[in-house]
Amino acid sequence: MDKRPVREFEVELPVGYVDEDGRQHRTATLRKMTGREEALLADRKLRRNGGKLVTELLRNCLVRLGELEPVNRHMVAGLSSPDRNYLLLELRKITFGQELHATYTCPFCGETSSVLEELDELPVRRVNGSGPPEIVVELEDGYEDKEGFYTTMVFRLPTGVDEEKTASAMKENASLGMNALLTRCLQGLGDMPANRREALGTKILSDLALGDRARIERTFRQEMPGADLSREIMCEDCGRKFQATLDLTSFFSLS
Ligand SMILES: [Zn+2]
Repeated sequence: MDKRPVREFEVELPVGYVDEDGRQHRTATLRKMTGREEALLADRKLRRNGGKLVTELLRNCLVRLGELEPVNRHMVAGLSSPDRNYLLLELRKITFGQELHATYTCPFCGETSSVLEELDELPVRRVNGSGPPEIVVELEDGYEDKEGFYTTMVFRLPTGVDEEKTASAMKENASLGMNALLTRCLQGLGDMPANRREALGTKILSDLALGDRARIERTFRQEMPGADLSREIMCEDCGRKFQATLDLTSFFSLS
């Protein structure tokens, strides 16, 4: 008799899924992608919203979350973005292997460099203890209105729901899309009352000085759990070095 190939792959989530009873699930079980998922990737309507595409893809390939089975859309959309990205990475590895030919465009000369990425070697930051962490940013210029002056921002981690709701704004204008995403994740701004903060909405992020916006980006980059997708690339053409991010959407191109 032929040996049966492994059909299910258990991975450890960097953050973990918190269910409706507040219980945490730190493992997820994936199966390989099939022709069904290839059809999802080719679906024009889904391709217009990257967040929805990732939700559908993971819903199909997640066998269980902790002991929870089956996995529904609501659960996948409720996972934090670092966990979703990590699951995409693992799905890529079990389906196509851990080597990936990635291309990066040089911001100085516009030429592309191709790099063979070893996905097994990406460092992964995992959350210790219980529950998703908060990300706290101390602003320098801060936010000021007639009621007061505020310098501490507290964010929760973005989730699949946030990705889905902001995907079209992100595509239209990356800066405004980021404002929308961060506004959804903003849990506190100094001692500003929540209703006032919610009424201001994206205005808070738009009004921040560029230095403070860079501070938010830097803090997220440093403290965000999950696989570290940032890289330093040396341009094959002009020899200059630049910072780039490994593009998750390139994971599943079949070429
Ligand atoms: Zn270059």
